[in-house]
Amino acid sequence: MELLQPGTWQEALEARAAHPGALPLHGGTDVMVDLNFDRRRPGALLDLGRVAELREWGTDDGRIRLGAGVPYARVIDELGAQLPGLAMASRTVGSPQIRNRGTIGGNLGSSSPAGDALPPLYASDAEVELAGPNGTRTVPIADFVTGPKRNVLADDELIAAFLVKPASGPQQFAKIGTRNAMVIAVCSFSLAVHPQERRVGTCIGSAAPTPVRAAEAEAFAAQALDWDGAGPADDATLTRFGELVAQAASPIDDVRGSAAYRRHALSVLARRTLSWAWSEQCA
Ligand SMILES: Cc1cc2nc3c(=O)[nH]c(=O)nc-3n(C[C@H](O)[C@H](O)[C@H](O)COP(=O)(O)OP(=O)(O)OC[C@H]3O[C@@H](n4cnc5c(N)ncnc54)[C@H](O)[C@@H]3O)c2cc1C
Repeated sequence: MELLQPGTWQEALEARAAHPGALPLHGGTDVMVDLNFDRRRPGALLDLGRVAELREWGTDDGRIRLGAGVPYARVIDELGAQLPGLAMASRTVGSPQIRNRGTIGGNLGSSSPAGDALPPLYASDAEVELAGPNGTRTVPIADFVTGPKRNVLADDELIAAFLVKPASGPQQFAKIGTRNAMVIAVCSFSLAVHPQERRVGTCIGSAAPTPVRAAEAEAFAAQALDWDGAGPADDATLTRFGELVAQAASPIDDVRGSAAYRRHALSVLARRTLSWAWSEQCA
């Protein structure tokens, strides 16, 4: 197997264009598992680990631009205030070793419905920046992921970064697993309160072929919550929000849990996270 190791972003793009069959590799926490289990046998690997540009983050026209190679550990340490939902999700990923190596770009690249970075990015309307020989394009995250482990990345493109507005209100992420750590989500839920826009962004993880927004729950929260007085959310509102989130999922029965359990768990996660976030909003 050929190993391509570009030292700069420009070299990485050139290598990708010259070897479109090469499999990009960043932290390797998904790719190396696939290679070890013989699920993939690419002719070449394109190791992005030496590309410093991918490990940078900064602000761009009011949004945070986070390079695809920033690992979970740095999101937790450096971005807890600006991106609290993503930081909460990052804390639940794997173990310290996986959080040090694994990247958000790799989670996007894998496009698993259970990828923990994805729900907070959907709830905050993130965009993915893709780069290739014809330049750069940005794609809303919901258009980037097209199916289980499928996305719109072309053979000659790389994920450069994602762009997301810093939190303007409380955010939450909650995940159910079969144990407390080192666990793939049975289901997960993320929300972001956008007070200026008087709306709540949501996303369900691991209970449909892709992460999904709970559109009816979002519309309900926009009209049912007391945006002017910031009064507390009553039980009926929280319960209805939970029901609508559960209805938006299309879960399956699998080794990690049944469809019925996932729906029930989602209604509980949605109720709890809205209650926590709205209490913070009212405080
Ligand atoms: C023990 C263990 C525990 C785990 N726990 C969790 C968990 O709790 N939650 C969770 O969500 N995931 C978990 N994972 C999965 C994995 O850690 C994450 O998906 C991680 O974000 C992958 O990042 P990476 O940099 O290691 O990606 P890699 O393995 O390097 O790449 C993953 C995919 O993305 C592509 N890719 C990477 N970078 C780019 C780029 N810049 N441009 C284009 N394509 C790119 C690769 O080609 C590949 O298809 C776990 C994995 C292990 C081994």
